[in-house]
Amino acid sequence: MKASKKCPHCGHWSTWNQDTSDRCKHCQGLLDPAAFERQQAQEERKEEEKKRFTVNLIQIHPTDSAFAKFWKSIGLGFQLAFVGIVSFILWLIALLAG
Ligand SMILES: [Zn+2]
Repeated sequence: MKASKKCPHCGHWSTWNQDTSDRCKHCQGLLDPAAFERQQAQEERKEEEKKRFTVNLIQIHPTDSAFAKFWKSIGLGFQLAFVGIVSFILWLIALLAG
């Protein structure tokens, strides 16, 4: 059975799949703008969380001096080890939570 919802923009009743992105068939306005915004905010939070665990890896350029390349490879080694440990912990948490 399809639900219907009164459009907050034009006041007409429109069919509603109870989806946050459903739009009014009369004026194309969002039927539930508050829920849509809540979902947008939730997705933004997820993106932020993803960014927190992303490490900007050191870039080694072919034009770097041997000395710079040496230190950069050591730094990169630490970074990769760190990323590996963090991913392992996240995987472990996901496994234990599941
Ligand atoms: Zn409408």
